[in-house]
Amino acid sequence: MNREDFSILDQKVYGKALVYLDNAATTQKPNVVIDTLSKYYLEQNSNIHRGVHYLSSSATAEFENARRSVQTFINATSDCEIIFTRGTTESINLVSSSFGKTFIKEGDEIIISEMEHHSNIVPWQFVCNERDANLKVLKFNEKGEISVKEFTKMLTNKTKIVAITHISNSLGTINPIKDIIDIAHKHNVLVLIDGAQAVAHCKVDVQELDCDFYCFSGHKMYAPMGVGVLYGKKNILEEMHPYQGGGEMIKEVTFEKTTYNELPFKFEAGTPSVGDVLGLQRAIEYMRNIGLDNIAQHEHKLMEFTLAELRKIEGVRIIGEASQRAGVISFLIGDIHPYDLGVLLDRQGVAVRTGHHCTQPVMEHFGIPGTVRVSFAMYNTIDEIKIFINAVKKAKEMLS
Ligand code: PMP
Repeated sequence: MNREDFSILDQKVYGKALVYLDNAATTQKPNVVIDTLSKYYLEQNSNIHRGVHYLSSSATAEFENARRSVQTFINATSDCEIIFTRGTTESINLVSSSFGKTFIKEGDEIIISEMEHHSNIVPWQFVCNERDANLKVLKFNEKGEISVKEFTKMLTNKTKIVAITHISNSLGTINPIKDIIDIAHKHNVLVLIDGAQAVAHCKVDVQELDCDFYCFSGHKMYAPMGVGVLYGKKNILEEMHPYQGGGEMIKEVTFEKTTYNELPFKFEAGTPSVGDVLGLQRAIEYMRNIGLDNIAQHEHKLMEFTLAELRKIEGVRIIGEASQRAGVISFLIGDIHPYDLGVLLDRQGVAVRTGHHCTQPVMEHFGIPGTVRVSFAMYNTIDEIKIFINAVKKAKEMLS
């Protein structure tokens, strides 16, 4: 793939070539995305939607064009179903808060899974506390897989919404979200998908999935930090209470009564991060040029090679052995603390993540303090994996 498009990768840390394997935390940005940001601030910067002057109207046109790019990227029916947020966390908080206010009442049930990121747990706890509703947790098995049968059993006539991750950021599991959505819908239950780890790694078609909400972050898909997306079905968004109050989300304000703007503006109070949105659009174009299928295939090869090589190292324990899995691999070696391993890998130029990865219940399930996690992006190579594996062997020797 076009590794040379990512200048940041071409550097040494501690005198060693950088091997960046922390892509589930954030991906690097291709130079064209950085150029887009730079061009925006050098030539186009202006507040959007309310201006009559040239810069404002052209920035507005570009911003709305970016919305249409996102719409096409995930195959939403209408651009009014694309709401720009700060990221997955804000997208989920928006839904939990607004959906909660509008639809959740005492005794209702919300289902999440045991492998959720904290940002798909805590916002639902807020709602449950506020509305006296109940949070139910779908457990996973020792391989890190959830059971659709178990899920079906959990649904009752009080269940209002299911919030589940597409791909687990600590186990790498790809969840059977299509089955979950179909079954939930048969019970008139809505489904929110946390797509933070999915959109840059596989094709997502929200119409085919038929999910009610799909949330993702720009910075995990080669776009700038500070921008994300909430996709929501128009009819549901229309019924939902606004999230934040402020400029842009209103139609008319008097001290007695305020009426709200139409979608998607009703959910976009205040000045958005216009440059970041344009950067997101450029990142989408970049990924589409390479092809999501090509990216997925490449990352699958990296994942299989890494798993095979890691398994050859004595004492390695892979945390998360789902049969359907993505390019996120968590592991431990013997009783070596993940942090110690991470630091020694870093000294050899290899960037990995250590800790609980904002999924403390997953760590509790396995009775471990954390894991070492490697995660791939389109620019990683087999040669880098070989460097990583050698670095693991060296670190293991030093720590044993
Ligand atoms: N969900 C998952 C599965 C994630 O991996 C992450 C980021 N680690 C988030 C949610 C939160 O994303 P952000 O911090 O970009 O809002």
